[in-house]
Amino acid sequence: MIIQEITMPEFEEGLKKTQTVIIPIGTTEEHGPHLPLATDIIHVYEMVKEVARKVQVFIAPPIYYGICRSTSGHTGTITISGHTLKSIIKDIVRSLYEHRMRNFMIISGHAGGTHMSSLFEIGELLLDELPESKIAVISLFHLISKESQEVVETKGDGHAGELETSLIMHVRPDLVKDLPESFFPRMPQYFLARDKKKYWPAGVWGNPKKASAEKGKRIFDIAVDRIVHLKQEFEKFKG
Ligand SMILES: [Zn+2]
Repeated sequence: MIIQEITMPEFEEGLKKTQTVIIPIGTTEEHGPHLPLATDIIHVYEMVKEVARKVQVFIAPPIYYGICRSTSGHTGTITISGHTLKSIIKDIVRSLYEHRMRNFMIISGHAGGTHMSSLFEIGELLLDELPESKIAVISLFHLISKESQEVVETKGDGHAGELETSLIMHVRPDLVKDLPESFFPRMPQYFLARDKKKYWPAGVWGNPKKASAEKGKRIFDIAVDRIVHLKQEFEKFKG
């Protein structure tokens, strides 16, 4: 049940079948010269819509913004503060809870550490505030990290690399431009760089040239299976 596409009576009917909702979140940030800025939400939203075709679950409208630290200086990145991110998650979950939703799966297509920390922080607060709620906070790439290794050839592949490029080649091939050369940035450890672009001009981490739509489909299917399985485990979870 894709919330942005169903009617009020359909929402009501749906609640008789499930009280589980997936809230997909990504970012709008640079993804090299070849992938769309909203890559992180495009792939995860397609995955959760596929999940909704297989099992009874609500899918909340996607959140296109998150916290981007290392790409914040790159053209096209729109980053938000931790405060804003926590506020929007808090308001959405509270509102859905009012409408009798109980199991909240926040799935992020963006794996940044600061971003994920904020999601965990607000998840814990909501758990305390809403007595009948269950909350899951999931980083998509963490969820599929083991299985995707069987598909991805590039060692140390990351942002806008082989994996993400493959996914977009599968779900939105019309949005993929010429694939750039591989790049592995050397970001300073411990020291916060003012000019982050200096260390990561390409905005790519990995080897996009190894990407293919076929690999993208395999990774996509792995992710959908993992989310379906997790949803079932989550509903059994006693807290
Ligand atoms: Zn990404």
